Amino acid sequence: VNNELRQSEQLAIVGQLATSITHEVRNPLTSLKGLTQLQKEKHPQDSKYYNIMMNELERINSILDDLMAIGVPKKMTYEKNNIQELIEYVSSIINHNGMEQTVSVTKEIENGLPEIECNSQQIKQVLINIFKNGMEAMPEGGKLVIKAESWKDNTIKITVTDEGNGISKENHELLGTPFHTTKSDGTGLGLMVSFKIIEEHHGQIQYDSEEGQGTTVTILLPVYQKY
Ligand code: ADP
Ligand code: MG
Repeated sequence: VNNELRQSEQLAIVGQLATSITHEVRNPLTSLKGLTQLQKEKHPQDSKYYNIMMNELERINSILDDLMAIGVPKKMTYEKNNIQELIEYVSSIINHNGMEQTVSVTKEIENGLPEIECNSQQIKQVLINIFKNGMEAMPEGGKLVIKAESWKDNTIKITVTDEGNGISKENHELLGTPFHTTKSDGTGLGLMVSFKIIEEHHGQIQYDSEEGQGTTVTILLPVYQKY
């Protein structure tokens, strides 16, 4: 219990810190981007340098986006949500980022799943992170299979399976630790945020992976929240 308490206090502190840093950094970043764009237009002969600057600023921006999600909302609200709708919504927005040509997405969602008590914003965030990771693991294409079914003890089980590059034993232990990424353009924050959200929902998340074969992510979410 002590350990759990300490951990949740730490998470609250990290959350507050993340929110204030994000706000502080966002403003100067916006003016830097504006000025860089202006300079680029003034000096077209140097546009390749300005493009690099813009890309790097964009990267800082995406790190801030992920950090933002760590900021704990003052009061978490849980409403009844249809998990099928959340999955459909997220897979429709994910499909717009240009991956749809190479990755085929299949959904197998059990009929008549009960609604679950959750914070829809946060669960969407988790699904975005997990679906994106699955797609990014298959740069040469492949199948992403998303399943949702009723599970024991009033839970819903969501599994996301890809045929991607998989996760090595060493990296398996690092999943969810801040800034752990194996991608040249990754932030290494997506899973940290996702793990935290699932924990807040009293759910579970598990990774089963075979290097070079693919990965299955299993999420268990309780239908009812204990308050
Ligand atoms: P990012 O996607 O920015 O790298 P994440 O926190 O989302 O950060 O993921 C951390 C790391 O976990 C990834 O860089 C990758 O190495 C590994 N990972 C997560 N999901 C998968 C997956 N489905 N297949 C292979 N590796 C994965
Ligand atoms: Mg990611």
